[in-house]
Amino acid sequence: MTRWRDMMCGEARVEHVGRRLALSGWADARRDHGGLVFIDLRDKTGVCQVVVNPERAPRAIEAAHATRVEFVLRAEGELVPRAPEAVNPKIPTGEVELQADSLEIVSRCPPLPFQLDEEDVDETLRLRYRWLDLRRARLQRNVALRSRLTTTIRRVMDGAGFLEIETPILAKPTPEGARDFLVPSRTRSGTFFALPQSPQIYKQLLIVSGFDRYYQIARCFRDEDLRADRVQEITQLDVEMAFPDRDVLFSLMERMCVEVWRQCAGVELVTPFPRLTWEESDARFGTDKPDLRFGLELGNATEATRNSQFGVFANAPVVRYLTVPRELSRAELASLEELAKEWGAKGLAYLVFGADGEVRSPIAKFLSDAELDAVRPRDLGQTVLFAADTRQLTSRVLNAIRLHLGRELGLIDEGAWQFVWVTDFPLLEWDEDEKRWTAVHHPFTRPVPGDEPLIESEPAAARAMAYDLVANGVELGGGSFRIHEPWLQERLFDALRIPAEEQRERFGFLLDALAMGAPPMGGIAFGIDRMTMLVTGERNLRDVIAFPKNQAGVDPMSGAPSTVSPTQLAELSIRLLPSA
Ligand code: ASP
Repeated sequence: MTRWRDMMCGEARVEHVGRRLALSGWADARRDHGGLVFIDLRDKTGVCQVVVNPERAPRAIEAAHATRVEFVLRAEGELVPRAPEAVNPKIPTGEVELQADSLEIVSRCPPLPFQLDEEDVDETLRLRYRWLDLRRARLQRNVALRSRLTTTIRRVMDGAGFLEIETPILAKPTPEGARDFLVPSRTRSGTFFALPQSPQIYKQLLIVSGFDRYYQIARCFRDEDLRADRVQEITQLDVEMAFPDRDVLFSLMERMCVEVWRQCAGVELVTPFPRLTWEESDARFGTDKPDLRFGLELGNATEATRNSQFGVFANAPVVRYLTVPRELSRAELASLEELAKEWGAKGLAYLVFGADGEVRSPIAKFLSDAELDAVRPRDLGQTVLFAADTRQLTSRVLNAIRLHLGRELGLIDEGAWQFVWVTDFPLLEWDEDEKRWTAVHHPFTRPVPGDEPLIESEPAAARAMAYDLVANGVELGGGSFRIHEPWLQERLFDALRIPAEEQRERFGFLLDALAMGAPPMGGIAFGIDRMTMLVTGERNLRDVIAFPKNQAGVDPMSGAPSTVSPTQLAELSIRLLPSA
């Protein structure tokens, strides 16, 4: 049997000089110095320089000449120190090289579709040859960090007494708001499994079953439109506990984050994380995902402008504003107005409080002194930007402008980590397309005690015992306390306009379980892909997934999804419609 290697390529050091070593790996580069041939032999730990001398190793030199990048090689020889002028201080193996007396070509490789050190390679090409793409140092690092992240999570969860329990992939639809992926059943033609959008119902059933503390690193499938920070197949840390206590759950999740950031990013997070209610987060930042790495908080001028001469303000349900610590130019204001319009605003009113004490604005003449005083910044040389519309729209527009200005004006401390819990989300929201109320989190979420009557009387005002964890403006996880009383669950389904027969048909098993001694329960789920993206500093989710689909939801490597044979379709009793 071949002895493939005595150590990894990246491990060779001065202390090993004089030893006879076998090394195996990929040819990262080959340099032919008219006589001597140098090969950088690479594995996941790094590279080691191999030198082949034609006089000393006439057979090896033939192999060295035939070698091309990404050939797999086995080299054997003596580890020697490099000549002082040849030392490479940039790599850990830079003081030594392997003086090969044998070199064996183990596998060959044709000319590459792209070079591994090439930047900006077309993503589809990278995904088509993912096995090559994954050899790049950056992706090797990302995949290794992801493994460290899940290992860290398992250690923390196990240490806190949570059992890791798997739940089915072939499942019944769980409504998390996205479209389901369906799998036809062969043995019961005409019926379908759904791939789980999350293990939500299963984890609640595990708590009803007495497991008390559950977790799982679970795959979830959501047939949604894709974006850079969204994929259809996600991995979640899914958590649920019986007799939940919010402080206990939050501090456990904080400990998990502290460990993950320590192990994977070398960062010490400060706990406890601050908390904001949804109401406060929306009022101050115009979003439920506030980026707290910078200020630029929103103000509210609704009261102050109720009787304004400026009709746009007087007639708007809400008037809110942002104070920008700069005198913005006309051109800057015009481009911000464009941005505001993209987010649905009709325009962007502004007041420039000039350094000279002048107020410059087409609307200034309509505003009373009291109105101006209500929004006047403490210092001169600042600009106040207004949004006057519904609460939702003003939030959306001012949040977009706030984030844009945070970046443009360099207000964001890029090295900082600002985590925040956002709590007490609304329970329900009106769906204009479907003309009915829908669950903001999911239909199993508990209303805040005392808000139950609002479910029917004032749905928009009912709050949920739901929370999200947000890091630097990115939603990392979210969860809630659940309804464990069947009657309350039915009441919520009623509010969502799910007819009684459908409640039975879709959720009968859950209602039955809740009727058989269900304890109070609550939990949370974290997006592992997004978390990895944050700790690696990647901007594209696909760069932290070994085998992702592309932007169109297709795998350019295997060609999935692909057509199947008529026989397979017939077995499933499926007939395809002619494609449009
Ligand atoms: N199942 C929920 C989700 O995937 C999380 C939870 O409520 O625990 O968002």
